[in-house]
Amino acid sequence: MEYLGKLHLAGLEVDQVAEALAHEGWPRFRAEQVFRWLHQKVVTNFTSMHNLPKPLINHLQEKYGSPLACQIILQRESIDGTIKYLFGLFDENTVEAVYIPEKDRGTLCVSVQVGCAMNCSFCATGRSGFVRNLSTAEIVSQVNAVRAALPPERPRLSNIVFMGMGEPFANFEAVMAAAAIFQSELGMHLGQRRITISTCGLVPEIRRFADLKTQINLAVSLHAPDNDRRSSVMPINRRYPIEELLDACRYYTSRTNRRISFEYALVEGFNDSHGDAQMLAEILQDMLCHVNIIPVNPVEGFQRPEASRVQRFKQVLEAQGIAASVRKERGTDIEAACGQLRQVHGRTPSSRTERRMRSESP
Ligand code: SF4
Repeated sequence: MEYLGKLHLAGLEVDQVAEALAHEGWPRFRAEQVFRWLHQKVVTNFTSMHNLPKPLINHLQEKYGSPLACQIILQRESIDGTIKYLFGLFDENTVEAVYIPEKDRGTLCVSVQVGCAMNCSFCATGRSGFVRNLSTAEIVSQVNAVRAALPPERPRLSNIVFMGMGEPFANFEAVMAAAAIFQSELGMHLGQRRITISTCGLVPEIRRFADLKTQINLAVSLHAPDNDRRSSVMPINRRYPIEELLDACRYYTSRTNRRISFEYALVEGFNDSHGDAQMLAEILQDMLCHVNIIPVNPVEGFQRPEASRVQRFKQVLEAQGIAASVRKERGTDIEAACGQLRQVHGRTPSSRTERRMRSESP
């Protein structure tokens, strides 16, 4: 049984499902039915696919076990309606996703890797180390499992952000394949502008993404206005310093004519001064962009600035012609920041697993 493995049905586009079923002698319309059950009706059990013949249901059960390649093992709801989900994977690793409801829409922030190799110092996931990439099926299944589990009175999922655990561009193919499945007319039928990919700044992949010329939103984590400070919290900056990163961002906007969103985690006494805001405005001058100011979720050694200081920072940017907004704080009572629930739950990968996976990675 390929249950939860790389070739799980949940990670295949409809043509690939058709190809897989054709090997067993099933016609294409059966594949389309299966795809609809998986991604439109989001059933969690093959036996619920009641317009399929019994032998096909038996085959799917035997080969794939479940329509989902990961299972919700824990969920916590915040007083503000945010829900954090912990997913169990086939190899006993865990990842997280966060559902953020707003008046007329629901956003799910999904994970793309178990852990992360980027080692950003303010990030709970970065601190837990890298284990492995998620498969397309494991990414898609986070979304489908949440869609199936959401109570009907909650805003349905209308937006997906690749901003959970892991660096999306370090798992480029699986992320783009998942985005394609979300867009399928026979499935969720999500518009490209309702999908956002967030990167810590992998320059070659930003250029590769730009060349795809999609309408998918791009968010880039900046977090500091100069190389010294950015390198001190984001080791990736030593490989791709700010100048190279911003060149790639300009390339992206020129190829797509799309605005980039720069994520800027505001940390007390580190990057939140009047001068820092001015420096940031200077390096972003003439860029088609928006700055998303994120008062940092307190983790060891990083404190959130006072609200008045956050507002001042925003005003300085705006005065220099840079569009900016402050991200509303959500779900702090349920450890909604990236990687926190997993740590609290004690399901971070065992050091033995971690060592083994690391030694197996190229
Ligand atoms: S912030 Fe993102 S890229 Fe950085 S360590 Fe955390 S998950 Fe990885």
